[in-house]
Amino acid sequence: MVNQITIEKTKKPKEKPNQDHLEFGHNFTDHMFLMDYTEGKGWHDARILPYAPLSLDPSTMVLHYGQAVFEGLKAYRTEEDKILLFRPNKNMERLNLSNERLSIPPIDGEFIIQAIKELVHIDKDWIPTKEGTSLYIRPFIIATDATLGVHPSHSYLFLVILSPVGAYYPEGIKPVKINVESGYVRAVRGGTGFAKTAGNYASSLKAQEDAEKNGYSQVLWLDGIEQKYIEEVGSMNVFFKINGEVVTPALNGSILNGITRDSIIHLLKEWDIPVIERKVSVEELYGAHVNGALEEAFGTGTAAVISPIGELSWMDKKMTINNGEIGELSQKLYDTITGIQNGKIEDKFGWTVEVEAINVK
Ligand SMILES: *Cc1c(COP(=O)(O)O)cnc(C)c1O
Repeated sequence: MVNQITIEKTKKPKEKPNQDHLEFGHNFTDHMFLMDYTEGKGWHDARILPYAPLSLDPSTMVLHYGQAVFEGLKAYRTEEDKILLFRPNKNMERLNLSNERLSIPPIDGEFIIQAIKELVHIDKDWIPTKEGTSLYIRPFIIATDATLGVHPSHSYLFLVILSPVGAYYPEGIKPVKINVESGYVRAVRGGTGFAKTAGNYASSLKAQEDAEKNGYSQVLWLDGIEQKYIEEVGSMNVFFKINGEVVTPALNGSILNGITRDSIIHLLKEWDIPVIERKVSVEELYGAHVNGALEEAFGTGTAAVISPIGELSWMDKKMTINNGEIGELSQKLYDTITGIQNGKIEDKFGWTVEVEAINVK
């Protein structure tokens, strides 16, 4: 395993984007992190370089067979001008689970967190300062063998890129309309649903496009076997408050184990609010709606933290939830998690990790 990172700083720093108009994932900082894997040699040549295009042979495996995994986390600037990461060790654990499923060699999570800290520190002036903004961090690994044979690659490239992102809700949290997808499925038993891999997204695009055409912002996925049980929303996990109890689909191998999901479960337990991980059928949900027991629904993920669901559409049935407004518990969870992330609320769980001034060579 490597433990040295060489650094080459850019000679042409880019102009920083206007903080008031940051579109998600459109702007990238001045530097990126790279590291190579070669069979027999392991991961090597960890380096921070000026952000630049990659040069790949057209036969590069990832372009044909999608052997690729990724992660997503954020760096937040506090009022005291500290920089915090949120539970980055969880991202590294999950990255290695994804690696295992995709036959990609494991990475040393602690080393990568160190690399992320160095990179974020070098580009720290790119972290926006306005309330609700952050620096999105995208680690990813691609298979780089230049051959068309179908087999796990013998070489890989690990990268980390950074993108300043604006407040997800510049005008206050707005609940979204979601379509329950009854045709396409996202993941199946024995498949890659629990891994954060490019292919899961490729196969989800069609349903997402159809939902958008019909005025919905996301898709609520059902299980791939019976198409009865709720799995997750687009790129978020999902929670329902039914009769005072919070319910979320249990991790069954086809659902992504979200770090926001895990943090919410911890907070609810801390607050003595009943929270249960179990199977939830869409029929049960509809029944709860008809009985007036469906009090709140929300998606959870790093990008939005909490995305309240104001309306669910299932076949010809529509469920309006909490009058299409954000629920009290959804708001409290949002305020608490974002408060911990930006250092305004005490971090009792030890979730935040400071990016300290490290020796930048
Ligand atoms: C990344 C992701 C999530 C959310 O995970 P977080 O760790 O909370 O950001 C949920 N579902 C899918 C499919 C994802 O890719």
